[in-house]
Amino acid sequence: MILYKSLTHSKDEFTTHEPGVVRMYTCGPTVYHFAHIGNLRSYIMEDVLEKYLRYAGYRVDRVMNITDVGHLSSDADTGEDKMLKGAKREHKSVMEIAKYYTDAFFADCGKLNIRIPDTVVPATSRIPDFIEMVSRLLEKGYAYEAGGNVYFDTSKLDEYYVFNKHDAEDLAEGVREGVGVDVNKKNKADFVLWFTKSKFEDQELKWESPWGLGYPGWHIECSAISVKELGEYLDLHCGGIDNAFPHHTNEIAQSEAYLGHPWCPQWFHVLHLNTDKGKMSKSSGEFLTVSLLEEKGYDPLVYRFFCLQSHYRKSLVFSWDALDNAVAAYDKLIAKIAALKDEGPDDEDGKAVLRARFNEAMSNDLNTSLGITALYDVLKAPISGKAKLSLIAEFDTVLSLGLLDRSAKYNEKAKQKAATPSSEEGDPRVLALIAERAEAKKAKNYARADEIRNALAAEGITLIDTPQGTTYKIG
Ligand code: AMP
Ligand code: ZN
Repeated sequence: MILYKSLTHSKDEFTTHEPGVVRMYTCGPTVYHFAHIGNLRSYIMEDVLEKYLRYAGYRVDRVMNITDVGHLSSDADTGEDKMLKGAKREHKSVMEIAKYYTDAFFADCGKLNIRIPDTVVPATSRIPDFIEMVSRLLEKGYAYEAGGNVYFDTSKLDEYYVFNKHDAEDLAEGVREGVGVDVNKKNKADFVLWFTKSKFEDQELKWESPWGLGYPGWHIECSAISVKELGEYLDLHCGGIDNAFPHHTNEIAQSEAYLGHPWCPQWFHVLHLNTDKGKMSKSSGEFLTVSLLEEKGYDPLVYRFFCLQSHYRKSLVFSWDALDNAVAAYDKLIAKIAALKDEGPDDEDGKAVLRARFNEAMSNDLNTSLGITALYDVLKAPISGKAKLSLIAEFDTVLSLGLLDRSAKYNEKAKQKAATPSSEEGDPRVLALIAERAEAKKAKNYARADEIRNALAAEGITLIDTPQGTTYKIG
C-alpha cells in the first residue's frame, strides 16, 4: 500500500516494524460535548484505513484514548480545561460528563459503521503511567519543574517542528487566547507535562504526584497510552490535521525522548470538514451532529458515503445541498443492488479483474472515491448477480456503507408497499387485471373473472372484494 506520510510530505510504501502486524494509535475524542460530523469525518476515514489494512491481510492492533482530562481550550496549554467547561455548562460532575459523551460518541460510531478499536483507554484510568513517563523525562533531562508545573524542554531536541517549519512567534501566548504569557517556560515552544498550578482553583480532578496534587497535560496521555499498549515501535498514528501541531509534535517529542529512538514513521492526518464559515469546531458551539442529521431524516450512512466520495487529504465543505446529492447517489446505488438476483455462476476470473480495480484505488493513498467507482464497475460488469453480490459484500467490509443491509431493507419496503396497495398505488399490471375482471363481471363473463382471480392466486396474489372495489394482498 502507498500512503502519504506527514513527516516526509511524500507518498511512500506503507511499512510495519513487524511483518504483517500494524500497530495503530488514534487520538480519541475530548468528551465534553457531542462529536460533530467534522470529528466523525476523521474517525470514518481512519476506520476505512484500518479496515482496508485488514482486507489487505494485516493484523491490526488498534488503540484509542478518550480525553477526559487535561485538554485545555487552547491546544497550547492555555485557557480553561475543556472537561470542566462541559461540566459547568451542564451542572454535572466531570466524570458524569465524560461518561455521557463517551457513550454518545460510541453510539454515533455505531450509526456510522465505525468499528470501535478493541482497546479504548480513558486518560483518567492511566495516571500512574503518565507520572512514570514524566518522571523518566525529568531524569533524562528533557523536562524541568517551574512554578509548580513540569514542562518539556524543547531546546533539548535536535528538531522539534517535525511536520512543518513553524515560526516560534506562532506560539506567542496572549495573542491567541487573551491570557498572560506563561513566565515559567524556558522556551516558548515548551509545553506542560504535569500541572499543579493551574489558573483554575476549582479544577475537579486532581491526583497525587511527586510534584504535588495536580493533573496531566493533554499530550502526555497519548504517548504514555500508546507506548504501554502498543510497545516501543508504533507503525501508524492517526488524527485530524489540527492535531499535527502542537499535539502530535509534542507526542513525538515526549515519546522519542522517553524511548531514546524514533517512535512512529507514519502519521495519517485527515483534513477538515468545513462549513461556509470555516472549520467545524466544538468550541464555536455551531456544529452538526449525527442525531441532528437523523432528526432531519438523513440516514447516517449517507454521511459516511458523502465522506468517502472525497479524498481524506482534501478539505471537505459541508452543505445541505451537497448532502442531498449524496442521498440521491446513495439511493440509486442501493436500488441497483436491490435489483440484483443472487443467481448464476460465481465467476472468479471476472471478479479478480474488478477486485484489482478496487485494490488499485484503495492502496493508492486510500482513494475512496475511486474505490466507490470500482463498486459501480461491479454493477456494470458482465458477471452474474451472484458474483456481483459477493464482490459488493467483500468491498463493503472496507467501505462499510451498509450496502446489503440497506438493499434488503429497500426490497422489504417495496414488498410491503405492494402488499398494501391503495387505489392509486400498486403494481400497474395487477391493477389492470383487477380492472379487466371488474369489466368481465359487469359483462357477466364470470369464466374470465375467475380465470383472472385464479391466475393471480397462482402468483400468490389474493384479491379482496370490498364495497369500494377490489384491492389485493400478497401472500
Ligand atoms: P477532539 O474531540 O476535539 O479531541 O477531536 C477529535 C478528532 O476530530 C481529532 O482527531 C481532531 O483532529 C478531529 N477534528 C476536529 N475538528 C475537525 C474537523 N472540522 N474536521 C475533521 N476532523 C476534525
Ligand atoms: Zn493524541
